[in-house]
Amino acid sequence: MQVNSEAHRTIGRVFLSARRPEEFVGADIANSLSFFTRAFGPPLFHQYAATEIPYYHGEAFPGLIHLSWMTFLGIRTDGSDEIFRAHEMAHQWWGIGVEPATYRDAWLSEGFSDFAGMWYMQMVLRDNDKYLKALKDARQEIRRERGTAAPIGLGRRAGQSWRGNYELSTYKKGAWVVHMLRNLMLDTRTMGEDRFIATMRDFYQTYRGKRASTEDFQRVVEHHTGIPMDWFFNEWVYGTAVPTYTFSWNAEPDSGGFSAHLRVRQSDVPDDFAMYVPVLIKFAQGEAMVRLLVRGPTTETTLKLPGEPKTIELNPLESVLAEVKTEGWHN
Ligand SMILES: [Zn+2]
Repeated sequence: MQVNSEAHRTIGRVFLSARRPEEFVGADIANSLSFFTRAFGPPLFHQYAATEIPYYHGEAFPGLIHLSWMTFLGIRTDGSDEIFRAHEMAHQWWGIGVEPATYRDAWLSEGFSDFAGMWYMQMVLRDNDKYLKALKDARQEIRRERGTAAPIGLGRRAGQSWRGNYELSTYKKGAWVVHMLRNLMLDTRTMGEDRFIATMRDFYQTYRGKRASTEDFQRVVEHHTGIPMDWFFNEWVYGTAVPTYTFSWNAEPDSGGFSAHLRVRQSDVPDDFAMYVPVLIKFAQGEAMVRLLVRGPTTETTLKLPGEPKTIELNPLESVLAEVKTEGWHN
């Protein structure tokens, strides 16, 4: 790794950075290389070089990544440095290992690498809160700009028109879409991620050294979910709507335990907009997660519970790119 050590030691004294930049940046390079190799499969090259550049961006080339001098300062503690370094490494899988077929498929490179960077950060720092905070910040920005947003599926063309923010849709919303698939495939009993990991590995290994389109990815996802996923891709990749859910619940004792009535009012999206949204039920001891199909202006359901629920939360773990509000129960 090539680093301007002398300059960083000078800057390091100013910022009281305790660690040497070659070490913590080098650790992320080595750790993300090994994490992605285990998660997705072997990259195309056997050797990797990372080098510091005097700019504010990073860039990936086959077998080589450039990292901004900023990331060598080690002053950001919100996980964004880890995400940035791993994003550039992830391009060895997404963008270089599997190349987007057309400009419309750019999110398969940038969105996937951004997601991979967040996933790596969550794992290496063992910090779910920082992972969820990164998603929440991106969600709020995506929501704010949804009125002028271009669909992810428009790719680079979004940046060439007056409409839309290419980086926001392709990078951040692209990463959000992969995260939504991750949580959609989560085994709600064991919290196991086998299905999601198998999907990503299958997609990578099928198209390694080739080009892939969004439709190719959709087919791999469908193979692993076992259901058609056109509704999901239409809503999140080819559409720009972001739903608002207004949630209320009420529980009362019944012969077998408790009955919980759940109601979700959906707004800001077309009437046929549908999504599986997790619901987290916390009891005095233990908790349970179920999925609710939210579709149309109002969705109601009744759950039979073994005990009294203390709290019921709609959309835990930032599972769906949605604004969630709560309201009091009324019959
Ligand atoms: Zn990138």
